[in-house]
Amino acid sequence: MIDMEYIPFTLGVQKNIALIAHDTKKEELGDWAYGNREILKGHFLCGTGTTAKLITRRTGLPVRGYNSGPLGGDQQIGARIVEGRVDFMIFFWDPLAAQPHDPDVKALLRIAVLYDIPVANNRATADFLLSSTYMDRAYTRKVFNYNRAIEDRFAALKEE
Ligand code: PGA
Repeated sequence: MIDMEYIPFTLGVQKNIALIAHDTKKEELGDWAYGNREILKGHFLCGTGTTAKLITRRTGLPVRGYNSGPLGGDQQIGARIVEGRVDFMIFFWDPLAAQPHDPDVKALLRIAVLYDIPVANNRATADFLLSSTYMDRAYTRKVFNYNRAIEDRFAALKEE
């Protein structure tokens, strides 16, 4: 196992979905979540603080809230992706405005790609993702083998 370049992680039938929207996109995500509440109720939902509250208000579904995005919420969700506790993300970010936490946004998007989780950054992609046949079955994603990476990097260190 440790020699493999990638290791398989399985997204179960019930996905751990993170929901995030920048302020100008919150209404759009709220509308989308409301329209898809019957599908979303079959999954575990979480989100950045304000978005999570909004989704609960719009859909009546429980959404675990982390900190607000500008206060570290994006970083918390990124950490959950690394830990394998978030495996699906709907993130409507604003393409027309700089954010105070742009570095965190970039880091989150990078981690989502690195850990090979499905990500939607706009409504059309979110619609395509939710209508995927993989929503009703398990899917095995391939994640870079970080154990091997650590071993390789450690082996390359010179002895003191
Ligand atoms: P919020 O954070 O849901 O707390 O507004 C989202 C963001 O702006 O990154």
